[in-house]
Amino acid sequence: MRAELPTAELESRLSFGSAILRGADCEVYRSDWSSVAGEIPVLSILPASVEDVVAVVRWAVRHAIPLVPSGGRTGLSGGATPRSCDVVVSLERMRRILAVDAEQRTMTVEAGVATQVVQDAAAAHGLLYPVDFASRGSSQIGGNIATNAGGIRVLKYGLTRDWVAGLKMVTGSGELLELNRGLIKNASGYDLRHLVVGSEGTLGIVVEATLKLAAAPPPQQVLLLALPAMSMVMQAYARLRRTLSLSAFEFFTQAALEHVVAAGARAPFASPSPCYVLAEFDHDEAAMSAAFEELAASGVVTDAVLAKNNAEASGLWRLREGITESLSHRKPYKNDVSVRPGQIPSFMLRMDKLFGAEYPGFEVIWFGHVGDGNLHISIIPPAGYPREAFLAQCDRVTHMLGGVLQDFGGSISAEHGIGLLKRPYLRYTRPSAEVELMRQMKHVFDPKGIMNPGKLFPP
Ligand SMILES: Cc1cc2nc3c(=O)[nH]c(=O)nc-3n(C[C@H](O)[C@H](O)[C@H](O)COP(=O)(O)OP(=O)(O)OC[C@H]3O[C@@H](n4cnc5c(N)ncnc54)[C@H](O)[C@@H]3O)c2cc1C
Repeated sequence: MRAELPTAELESRLSFGSAILRGADCEVYRSDWSSVAGEIPVLSILPASVEDVVAVVRWAVRHAIPLVPSGGRTGLSGGATPRSCDVVVSLERMRRILAVDAEQRTMTVEAGVATQVVQDAAAAHGLLYPVDFASRGSSQIGGNIATNAGGIRVLKYGLTRDWVAGLKMVTGSGELLELNRGLIKNASGYDLRHLVVGSEGTLGIVVEATLKLAAAPPPQQVLLLALPAMSMVMQAYARLRRTLSLSAFEFFTQAALEHVVAAGARAPFASPSPCYVLAEFDHDEAAMSAAFEELAASGVVTDAVLAKNNAEASGLWRLREGITESLSHRKPYKNDVSVRPGQIPSFMLRMDKLFGAEYPGFEVIWFGHVGDGNLHISIIPPAGYPREAFLAQCDRVTHMLGGVLQDFGGSISAEHGIGLLKRPYLRYTRPSAEVELMRQMKHVFDPKGIMNPGKLFPP
């Protein structure tokens, strides 16, 4: 750990409204929503302007100080967790909405704006910022861009990447780049904007973004279906998709539901089913009824609840969105994997077999954005099970899961990023030639290696 950092030199360059925190004030920046414990960083800097961020990075370059960009710290892979020698750069004081252009359907924001604030500001103009997930109240646009966040409406609207029209970032050498400037067409070489999306703070710090906005959707319906087997989930998907305009198709098992109900949600059905599907779609009573009847007649669906109003729709969504939070006190081991959607049934079979054999006595909780080919699996050991033995077992099985993913051409991280937790498994998703190119790109953006060191790349 460094004895003394030359902060006086930096303080004189920072604007009014910025802050440098030390000691106990840095405790909050120690961890994110992952299981990584993290360490209290030596300093936390809260810049208030783009110029402040430039000054911080140039100062860090001069003194070879490692920086960890920090958004809302809702990340699930330890990407924003520091070591004690790191300086955290938190964007929380850069949270202004700079412009809304309702006609062009764009919004320009500072990187520290919370996702939900962007959604609300779009709605106030009769528009939609469609990237959405349960951590919307705390996660920041900069963090969403750095992780290429997905969420519950990817099916219809795509990922964060699809909604970034331009962004400003400060590279690891302290250069301010303005990438794509909100252009729709720009065939002038490499689109560096898309390199920054999903770069997990390893290339530089995102300071501003121009986001695209969508037209407000027509009224939506929310339907919860009970299914007799996981193997039928994609049959339900295929049928609903045929005649309904789906914006979400989410899946969870009875085990997941039990945790959300234990945390206070209302059970949707009188008796349990092996698994459930939550679908959201443009209102179409006739198409919905026809689809349901067909699914019920063929035995794919055994029960259903249709939300009659917004409150009921929120209640149904809570059953899905409350899962991560309801499990957090049990400190689950999490997998967040993806395959092409058409492969989901055979992939699920392989995983079920693997987990059944390798996790006897453990609780295996399945849920996720299955319409996108994305499954979240949380593993919980029996009470009193030694933590180290549990983690060692999960590591061993995740390597086996990596092998399965290789067979399917899938990904070890669908949307949560690699951060610290998934580094040992990156090789199952990205061949060494790709990882080497990524390392070289990092070196170009960050020649001193000060940006989020130790994250993303295998040690
Ligand atoms: C209950 C719950 C539900 C979730 N559901 C989803 C979901 O459905 N889909 C999904 O994709 N994710 C989900 N997440 C994960 C998380 O919310 C997202 O990854 C989110 O995008 C992280 O944003 P953040 O601001 O909290 O970033 P942080 O956790 O603070 O940081 C994440 C990464 O981004 C980097 N970073 C942060 N800000 C910047 C910046 N300005 N410039 C450069 N790098 C930066 C950090 O260094 C780190 O590597 C969920 C999390 C929770 C707790």
